[in-house]
Amino acid sequence: MSNTERTFIAVKPDGVQRALFPEVLRRFSQKGFKLVGIKLTFAKEELLREHYSDLQSKPFFPSLLSYMMSGPVLATVWEGKDVVKQGRALLGATNPLQSAPGTIRGDFALDMGRNIIHGSDSVESAEKEIALWFKKDELVSYKSEMYGWIYE
Ligand code: ADP
Repeated sequence: MSNTERTFIAVKPDGVQRALFPEVLRRFSQKGFKLVGIKLTFAKEELLREHYSDLQSKPFFPSLLSYMMSGPVLATVWEGKDVVKQGRALLGATNPLQSAPGTIRGDFALDMGRNIIHGSDSVESAEKEIALWFKKDELVSYKSEMYGWIYE
């Protein structure tokens, strides 16, 4: 399993407005993942249509777009062992009411349309989402001084 797997994690507008983004950064960092990209940005409709292209036909699609455009999004990229799957576990289930306490959605959210955070659901979609949200030169490569204490 590669220590250089990457995932795309976005704190949605509600998570930014509710000042939950430091908690998200803390949880991913303290788990041992390395932050390699971060920016606060207003997502454009075109980008969101591409990002959520598989949900286009869903009845909640228009409200999902307006939710995601209702304020700035904190877009981040994290690197580490099994980070895509582990990241989804840190997030919890899509429906916060079905998310276990201890997960981000389980601890901080109630409604699906206000579920705080997005995380890529596969290595393949992570690659696609990272390329969609970040330019290559916005991602940084550096040696983490924590690595020797996290990986054996
Ligand atoms: P996830 O974000 O957990 O990968 P999906 O890709 O299925 O979940 O859905 C994307 C986002 O669309 C969800 O995070 C949520 O904000 C919203 N969403 C999904 N299903 C519903 C629903 N039934 N009603 C309202 N919003 C929904």
